[in-house]
Amino acid sequence: MGKIVLKSVHKSFGDVAVIPSIDLSIEDGEFVVFVGPSGCGKSTLLRLIAGLEDTTSGTIEIDGKDATDLPPAKRGLAMVFQSYALYPHMSVKKNILFPLKMAGMDPAEAEKRVAGAASVLNLTDYLDRKPGQLSGGQRQRVAIGRAIVREPSAFLFDEPLSNLDAALRVGMRQEISELHQSLKTTMIYVTHDQVEAMTMADKIVVLQAGRIEQVGSPMELYRNPANTFVAGFIGSPRMNLITGPEAQKQKAATIGIRPEHLVISEKGTWQGVVGLSEHLGSDTFLKVAVPGMEPITVRADGELTLRHGDPIGLSPMDGKLHRFGNDGKTLA
Ligand code: ADP
Ligand code: MG
Repeated sequence: MGKIVLKSVHKSFGDVAVIPSIDLSIEDGEFVVFVGPSGCGKSTLLRLIAGLEDTTSGTIEIDGKDATDLPPAKRGLAMVFQSYALYPHMSVKKNILFPLKMAGMDPAEAEKRVAGAASVLNLTDYLDRKPGQLSGGQRQRVAIGRAIVREPSAFLFDEPLSNLDAALRVGMRQEISELHQSLKTTMIYVTHDQVEAMTMADKIVVLQAGRIEQVGSPMELYRNPANTFVAGFIGSPRMNLITGPEAQKQKAATIGIRPEHLVISEKGTWQGVVGLSEHLGSDTFLKVAVPGMEPITVRADGELTLRHGDPIGLSPMDGKLHRFGNDGKTLA
C-alpha cells in the first residue's frame, strides 16, 4: 500500500505562505517526481508528507487514513537521505541494520531483510566495509538499503543524486528506476533537474512558487504543456518562446516552438543568421538571430556545416507550434 492524498495542504513559515494550497493524489506504486526551480517548495512539500514539518492547514491521507497529525515514525514512509548521513564507524551491514535494531525487530528477521536489500542493491560483497571504503554510488545505495529494510509503503527522495558527478548520476538514476520496477513501491522523488523528472517519472508534478503548474506523464507535459512556465521548463534545450508581431499573427500573446521542431530551409518562415553553433557530434544546436524576434535555438543534424554568420531560414513543423494567451496559459 502507498496511496497518498493531499487535500488543501497549506504551509506558512511565519507570514510567508510557502505552499498556498495543494491538492494532489499519488497512487499506490506510482513513481512521482516533484520538479521545479530552487526555492519553489519541493522539499517543504516532501517534508510535510514525511511529517518532518507540520501543515498549517489541510489534510494528508496515507492509505485512506488521516495522517496529518501522525509523527514521522508512524507514517510508514522512508525518507532517503544523501550518502553523508551514514555512520562512518559502522560497517555497511550495521548501517543498514540500524533502523531495524532501533525498532526492536527480531534479529533473525532483521538479518534476512538486510541480506535481501543487499542483494537487490548489489552490496552483498561490501557488507563488512566501512562507508569510507566505498564509492559515492555505493554509499548512496547503502542509504537506500537502510530505507528498503523498513519495507515502507512509500520512499521519499529529496535530490538524492545532486552530490554525485554527472556520470554517476546517470547510473544511479537508472538504478533507482530499476529498484522501483522490482519493488513496485510508491516513490516520491524531488529534483530541480527536468531530465531526471522526464527519465524517471510515471507522473511529474511541476511546481512554481508553491503552486502546482501541471501534473502529467512526461510525454503529456512535453506534448501539451499547460502554460509558458511548463513549456519552458520541460524539454532540453528549452522551447523557444516568441512574443510580438510573430505571435500576434497566430492570434496569441506568445508562441512556442521546440528546437527539435524547426526545419531548416532556404524559403523558411523566419529568415535569420547563425550566431553560436554547438557541435555535439550527434546533434548540432544553433542560436539563430532573426530580426525583430528573440534568438531562436534550433536542433539540427550532427554533421551540419553551417557556421557563425551564415544566413538560414527556419520553419516550424506542422502542428508543432504552441500558442499561449496573455495569462500564459495554452490556447485551445
Ligand atoms: P526547494 O526544495 O524547492 O528548493 P524549499 O521547500 O526548501 O524549496 O523552500 C521553499 C521556500 O520556503 C523557500 O523560500 C525557503 O526559503 C522557505 N523555507 C523553507 N524552510 C523554511 C523554514 N524552516 N523557515 C522559513 N522559511 C523556510
Ligand atoms: Mg529542496
